[in-house]
Amino acid sequence: MSLSKFKNEPFTDFSEKKNRKEFQKALEKVTARFKKEFPIVIGGEKIFCDEKLVDTNPSNPDEVIGTFQKGTTDLAIKAVVTANETFKKWKFTSPKKRAEYLFQAAKIMRKRKHEFSAMMVYDVGKNWAEADGDTAEAIDFMEYYAREILRYSDKQPIVKIKGEDNKFEYIPLGVGVVIPPWNFPLAILVGMTTAAIVSGNTVVLKPSSDSPAIAQMFIELLEEIKLPAGVVNFITGSGGAIGDVLVQHHLTRFISFTGSMEIGLRINELAAKAQPGQIWIKRVVAEMGGKDSIIVDKELISFDEAVTGTVQAAFGFQGQKCSACSRVIVDESLYDKFCDALVEKTRFIKVGNAANNPNMGPVINQRSKNKILDYINKAVEEGGQIIYGGKELPENGYFIEPTIIKDVKPYDTIAQEEIFGPVLAVIKSKNFDESMDIANNTMFGLTGAVYTKNKKKLERAENEFHVGNLYLNRKCTGALVGVHPFGGFNMSGTDSKAGGRDYLGLFLQGKTISEKSK
Ligand code: NAP
Repeated sequence: MSLSKFKNEPFTDFSEKKNRKEFQKALEKVTARFKKEFPIVIGGEKIFCDEKLVDTNPSNPDEVIGTFQKGTTDLAIKAVVTANETFKKWKFTSPKKRAEYLFQAAKIMRKRKHEFSAMMVYDVGKNWAEADGDTAEAIDFMEYYAREILRYSDKQPIVKIKGEDNKFEYIPLGVGVVIPPWNFPLAILVGMTTAAIVSGNTVVLKPSSDSPAIAQMFIELLEEIKLPAGVVNFITGSGGAIGDVLVQHHLTRFISFTGSMEIGLRINELAAKAQPGQIWIKRVVAEMGGKDSIIVDKELISFDEAVTGTVQAAFGFQGQKCSACSRVIVDESLYDKFCDALVEKTRFIKVGNAANNPNMGPVINQRSKNKILDYINKAVEEGGQIIYGGKELPENGYFIEPTIIKDVKPYDTIAQEEIFGPVLAVIKSKNFDESMDIANNTMFGLTGAVYTKNKKKLERAENEFHVGNLYLNRKCTGALVGVHPFGGFNMSGTDSKAGGRDYLGLFLQGKTISEKSK
């Protein structure tokens, strides 16, 4: 196979009329799916349950965008057993063949990319550019991991000795339970699933209950490329009801999870306990929450760039990115001016129905909306001052104004806990030393950024800012596959570095074979 070099999928330029028109068409087209009901798929068998999971549009919660099944524990067990049976054959499918499935899937997704993006506009309330970025990332993951498995299955370099022929190779693990979140409901789901299967594992995929509709489109794509039945088994339903069964099953070999710290820690704990019949230590890849900071120093290349970068990182996709800036730590010499500038910039943010492509859409659901509003109240109780936003919008959807709260102290609740919404805490700092201390004062360590023109301070940040993804003089969101391998330290997870050269290693085990030579 002659293979081109990996290149990131370009984003769609929505300033072009043609692109806007095509996207509008895709938005209309996918509505035809709203009335449909979709099954659980185990080993190719389509299964309907008594209880249904109804997926709704967060911009307009009265609008149903698809009906799904509430999987039962029996079906969860069936899915693991089926994946285990399929593994016996799939593990011997050549890496080249497995890579071809991914290339084929990427090709079709690229062709229909607006349809996938349009579905995310309805499913999770992404505006057009955010949805387009999500689809581009999903395509990137498939293109990247397909190339990666070819590298991993190549001859691996080892030291030669006389009298023996030695080789080192990577083999798959077994059945993986893949549990993605709703916030990158295509990219992360596709990345986690395809990394596992291209490495020769089989999978039970349980999508988030907030975004089964986009997950379903990916399952249909896998059917279209004729991925053998049972390689990806798809079970919808509440994580609370079936998650433990999937994680604890003795045939489950690994769990690949992205989501909150709370659930990640639970999975890690349950997976650590060997079950009767289990003959391995389960591997857990858990990518979890963040409390990401931007440091704004007094010595800046551009004040405006620091303001713009902060606002984009705080409010892009309503602040619902694990990498979102939720704390900006500002040197006291420019604190007041910076707060004013943040407010001025945020005034231009329009909030509304994601289908109309505003700057910000809704947050994901009522529970999340309530939680975010509670955090805003808590911030005020603890002495914070709202300088912009702070309220929900009266519309039917789950809309919250972009919110900026100043005078937040480094250990206040909203400076420590992940909010996962459009709320930015502004923290005053005496100097760069203190900024660095504050930046490192949470249990998380996912992303962070520093704006300064002082080279020594940038060097200090490189050495001392303890995050998995550090950005210098740019915003802390927008990681690209291959360019910015992604994953966090501390309670942000196992630092799996999705989209990087180490990632597939998490789904493989190394085998050394030594033969005495004649
Ligand atoms: P979540 O509530 O933890 O849910 C994540 C997934 O876990 C969902 O599919 C959920 O299913 C499932 N789940 C729930 N309870 C479970 C259980 N007991 N056992 C097994 N699975 C269970 O997180 P979320 O709200 O979807 O996503 C937001 C979080 O993800 C944030 O904390 C964000 O920072 C984090 N995140 C991290 C990264 C990263 O790379 N570090 C990337 C994106 C997001 P149900 O929907 O059915 O409950």
